Amino acid sequence: LKRNIQVFCRRNALLTLSIIAVLTGCTLGFMLRGTQLSTQAKIYFSFPGELLMRMLKMLILPLITSSLMSGLSSMESKACCRMGVLTVTYYLWTTFIAVVVGIVLVLIIKPGVGTEMESHRLGGGPVMTSADALLDLIRNMVPSNLIEATFQQYKTDLVPILKLSTRTIQPNFVYVIPDDSDPKGRTVYLELTPPPEVTYKTSPGSSQQMNVLGIVIFSATMGLLLGRMGERGAPLVNVCQCINECVMKIINAAVWYFPFGIIFLVAGKILDMQDPSTLGKKLGWYGITVLAGLFVHGLVLLPLFYFVLTGKNPFSYIRGLLQAMVIALATSSSSATLPITMKCLLENCHVDRQIARFVLPVGATINMDGTALYEAVAAIFIAQVNDYELDLGQLVTISITATAASIGAAGIPQAGLVTMVIVLTSVGLPPDDITLIVAIDWILDRFRTMINVLGDALAAGIIAHLCRKDFPLSNTGKSVPSYGT
Ligand code: ASP
Repeated sequence: LKRNIQVFCRRNALLTLSIIAVLTGCTLGFMLRGTQLSTQAKIYFSFPGELLMRMLKMLILPLITSSLMSGLSSMESKACCRMGVLTVTYYLWTTFIAVVVGIVLVLIIKPGVGTEMESHRLGGGPVMTSADALLDLIRNMVPSNLIEATFQQYKTDLVPILKLSTRTIQPNFVYVIPDDSDPKGRTVYLELTPPPEVTYKTSPGSSQQMNVLGIVIFSATMGLLLGRMGERGAPLVNVCQCINECVMKIINAAVWYFPFGIIFLVAGKILDMQDPSTLGKKLGWYGITVLAGLFVHGLVLLPLFYFVLTGKNPFSYIRGLLQAMVIALATSSSSATLPITMKCLLENCHVDRQIARFVLPVGATINMDGTALYEAVAAIFIAQVNDYELDLGQLVTISITATAASIGAAGIPQAGLVTMVIVLTSVGLPPDDITLIVAIDWILDRFRTMINVLGDALAAGIIAHLCRKDFPLSNTGKSVPSYGT
């Protein structure tokens, strides 16, 4: 066994280092929690982690545009169409199934039933409807300005405002707020007693996040048209292929910095974490329900679909994705993890390049099984805390809106918490009650992001298998495949 472990560690040096980094980050974070670091010291301490996030975000734009433009340009329209329809259908179904798993579990476990936790109404009223969210999704698909889309996406009513309140959520807690007004995107740390409460701006606005969906749609259209242009389109296709190769080379070099960055990213988060003993039993059960749902969906149902649809061993395929899942755990962002997911799919799982280049970027924007499951569980948990009986019609509404809200959520940390307003308002629950689950959201976000990334990567393997006749090189790669067979 010792020898086997040694061989595994040597062959998977980067993965081993990343796992050690997560554990070291946790230990360091818990050790430093007792030392009362000043806010400034925390900013310096988190700096290597901040650099890691910046590196990953830097790669998203060139990776998506060059992958889609060069990948789709070499495909036949019929094959392309088949792949597109299969991908979107698969994504919608698996997301819906994730929601059903969440609903069944929360109705069985009933984490919110009981009197220990009170809900607090601020009386702000509904702030966003499902129709608004749908319109935002469509607006984001058609960006009015491409340059702006690289750093901004349209969002109505979703700008959180923090204000002082006498109502105590958790005393003396340090709140970490990404400062949207800061052009350098720095984070502001506030120590407030009593702490702030979160409400949402009701006027239309836009948040400073890359509109990945708009960029995916534009790049895919360009790629398809370039393929039809033949000789005239070839120079641009060559440029895109060169950019893509360079980006993959940058990723290959940058990954060796990741374990170091992960230590400080994880430790920094733990430093800011609320004292777990103040969370309460109900919130604990809510967390367990979400984690159980993610486990069932990610490690039982999705692998089962993979096995049934491809006839291959899903766990040897998942083994090739571990590096991406560790990065998802550390960053809480499926968009930021995209470069590593792409690397794992191409190098470890040997999925056809053309398929990976289409299925992954689309998945990172619209396929969030983990987020959908969590939104359904959270909405029903909040109903249980409020003693609010949900009938079958309302459960169906929750399942549909949770699926839609997860499609609309960006692949960034805690995006699901914000789009959950749509699910709550659709069944008449107070959106302010999001404050009930805020305290443990950061940790649940890490696990749901892992499942989001896993869902995209398994989808790429399945679509590659289903479209193998259209893409004869699918799953054979350049060398003998070592995963998924
Ligand atoms: N953090 C998740 C992701 O990037 C989105 C969410 O559920 O908040 O996939």
